[in-house]
Amino acid sequence: MRACLFDLDGVLTRTAVVHAAAWKETFDAFLAAQEGVGFRPFDPVDDYDAYVDGLPRADGVRGFLASRGISLPEDAASGVPKLHTVRGLGDRKNVLLLRLIRERGVEAYPGSVRYVRAVRSAALRRAVVSSSANCQDVLVAADIADLFEVRIDAVIASARSLAGKPHPDTFLAAARMLGIVPSGCAVFEDSLAGVDAGRAGGFGLVVGVDRTGQAAALHEHGADVVVHDLAELLKDTS
Ligand SMILES: [Mg+2]
Repeated sequence: MRACLFDLDGVLTRTAVVHAAAWKETFDAFLAAQEGVGFRPFDPVDDYDAYVDGLPRADGVRGFLASRGISLPEDAASGVPKLHTVRGLGDRKNVLLLRLIRERGVEAYPGSVRYVRAVRSAALRRAVVSSSANCQDVLVAADIADLFEVRIDAVIASARSLAGKPHPDTFLAAARMLGIVPSGCAVFEDSLAGVDAGRAGGFGLVVGVDRTGQAAALHEHGADVVVHDLAELLKDTS
């Protein structure tokens, strides 16, 4: 391998749980207000993994609501409350996420930091590939921004019209910016959608990172290797 392409939330930083909490608060408030349907809350593990983890924000809203048989307009039109739109729910989730991040701070996984430093020492190229619009702020808050040469996040993907995960386009763009062919790159992902993207892009290695007990699903989606912490990949050399 000549390059490593890392997902952010759940791989480098302990922020996947914060995303799950923000989605839960957003969706539960919306679902509880629906008339005529029994209230079944958002499951921060199963629903999160299946429908929103790793995906662009609006795709997460659409996918989860579709699983409950609900379809909403994309944007506020006359007579539609803003919170009852795909954009409105996504914006609400982001407000809650930023509040939680402010309250709790952002922590990088120590094993991931050790691994990325080892990768840098071995002169491998390094990129962050995230569906988050807050990627740069989270990298800075976790004090790991300087470890990566290239960043592809939701802001850059939108500006360049790159399809989000599970499409491989954002990972491929990062590989291109590093000047490394996909077969020379390893992808590190904790979401099923991200592993799908790694598989679809024809990358040399897809490493699934299992933080929540979904190792089997990560393998099923095409991970070549599944670890609980990136530090496990250092065992052979340390
Ligand atoms: Mg992730």
